[in-house]
Amino acid sequence: MKIIIHRGTHQIGGCVTEYEYDGWHLFVDYGEELPGGLKKGDLQVEGLTYGDISKSALLITHYHGDHIGNITKLPKELPIYMGELGRKIQMIMSDHLKKVRPEHKEMLERLEHIHTFKEREEFPFGPFLIKSVPVDHSAFDACAFRIEAGGVSIYHTGDFRLHGFKRKNFLNTLQQNVGDVDYVVCEATNISRPNATSKSEPELQRDFIKLFKENKGCVVYLSSTNIDRLFSLYKAAQNAGRRFCVDEYQKKIMDAVVESDSMWTHSPLYQYGKDELKPLMYHKFDKDRFFILDSFIDALDTYGYVLIARSSDRFDDLLGKIRGEKVKVLSMWNGYVKEGSDAYNENLAKSLDEDFDYMHTSGHIDMADLCFFFRLLHPKGIIPIHTENPEAFAKEFSDEWPIIVLNDGDSISLTSSSKAERSINH
Ligand SMILES: [Zn+2]
Ligand SMILES: [Zn+2]
Repeated sequence: MKIIIHRGTHQIGGCVTEYEYDGWHLFVDYGEELPGGLKKGDLQVEGLTYGDISKSALLITHYHGDHIGNITKLPKELPIYMGELGRKIQMIMSDHLKKVRPEHKEMLERLEHIHTFKEREEFPFGPFLIKSVPVDHSAFDACAFRIEAGGVSIYHTGDFRLHGFKRKNFLNTLQQNVGDVDYVVCEATNISRPNATSKSEPELQRDFIKLFKENKGCVVYLSSTNIDRLFSLYKAAQNAGRRFCVDEYQKKIMDAVVESDSMWTHSPLYQYGKDELKPLMYHKFDKDRFFILDSFIDALDTYGYVLIARSSDRFDDLLGKIRGEKVKVLSMWNGYVKEGSDAYNENLAKSLDEDFDYMHTSGHIDMADLCFFFRLLHPKGIIPIHTENPEAFAKEFSDEWPIIVLNDGDSISLTSSSKAERSINH
């Protein structure tokens, strides 16, 4: 089997990986590059974006824009495979965004016609046998793939971590469904961010419970598709006896998870309590406002509240109507509000107070957990992607495993023999 990393050997966003065997091409992810850094622009790949695609297919690991964002640019005939629930969540997101970002209208149309799979489902494509492996990540229904062809097995990690709520289930699934593999194509986002995972998701939840108990009014700025965090805060608010406020869009995403038959949703974390969660409704005639009754504002006064907010006129208007002190919390990567950062979001920075609290933990695995993870899979070689510094990654792990550092566009042949035959063609 041959692997080509078309993009992502030395950058985090927009990874595109190709597995080739016997004239068949299996690609993984086709997303957008992240803001900042050197951009390669639209990536043209034979057998994916042009040329003969009759023996090609694309797998999507999860709905983050750097993995799925560019699929609308691909030929309509190209078969695309994605997890069933992940597709549903992306459709809710695209439906919500389509008025302000027209590319989401195209995304919706494209998603109507893709193939879906369930967690742990095994399916063939040409000579490839593919198994979807559900992982723990800040996108719900994110998956890794075990890919096998010509006697070679690869584990393509996608984005993942071991410090979320799903750690135990993920490790069980890994042992039962993956076992040893020949090679791991591994995300290495946090190699240069040693402090990104200083807390686990359950530890962060405990901090939130404490904050909600001590403060009557809390406003948390959070990505609406960071569903584990959303449910974690919902449970934390219930624990602290506060009202939990989400808008129609966020509630729709939560409903999609609660109503799904995903293996994860057996956990009480993803179930509503006995009180019905009523979302904030949009005003019929004024798009910049919520439809709010005085009794609702009074109830927030009485019981205290946790409001899941986004930077928008609608939320700013609501915050102006709620009385009393408010603690504002940023619960997503703080690069969005660092002036001078490539990803700086001026509106978000404006919505936050000067002295907001920062309560977040990464959606990506740290190096200590990665070491533990590799020992479970016993690979003969590891190829880092989704990283700005594969050389540092090689330094970290090369004592124990052969690390294969590639450049974008290199192709490498892998065999299952104990001494991997490596021929890199630049
Ligand atoms: Zn991701
Ligand atoms: Zn990513």
